[in-house]
Amino acid sequence: MAKKITDEQPRVYFDCSKCPAFCCSIYERVIVTNRDLKRLAKHLGLTVEKAEKLHTKVHKESGERVLRRQKDVIFEEACKFLDKETRGCTIYHGRPEVCREYPDRTRCAYYDVLQFERKQQDDINVIPLVQITFREAKKVVVSDGNGSEEILEWKQGRQ
Ligand code: SF4
Ligand code: SF4
Repeated sequence: MAKKITDEQPRVYFDCSKCPAFCCSIYERVIVTNRDLKRLAKHLGLTVEKAEKLHTKVHKESGERVLRRQKDVIFEEACKFLDKETRGCTIYHGRPEVCREYPDRTRCAYYDVLQFERKQQDDINVIPLVQITFREAKKVVVSDGNGSEEILEWKQGRQ
């Protein structure tokens, strides 16, 4: 029996059209590869050099080329291509690969938090202000009079 196209599509448990776009706001680094840059330039009708200069910057800590950001009305900052009102991407067909893949799972943790808090607070309009910070952690052994145990130790720093 021939398979229907829908048989191949995994069910997802999030709806980006009902989300304030956590993923476009809380990640400081939306990486732009050479391929992404060419796609973006074509989408915007710009030269690659111009698109790079206008819309990307080098991230200080990592040295990666990332999309520029803008002040946001919900979160502190967001990607410069996020529409602040509709919370949609203004360069949808020209967006980088990393945006196309995200969240690459059937669930989105931020959408789950959103739904959870709205239910908890009995308010369909509430938006939890989530912030994400990455730390490098390493296992160390600490000892005292009662013996020793392994704990995680980290140095502070945003990525
Ligand atoms: S945070 Fe999740 S649900 Fe919200 S826009 Fe991004 S991928 Fe979609
Ligand atoms: S390019 Fe579009 S999808 Fe990617 S972070 Fe920016 S607004 Fe979101």
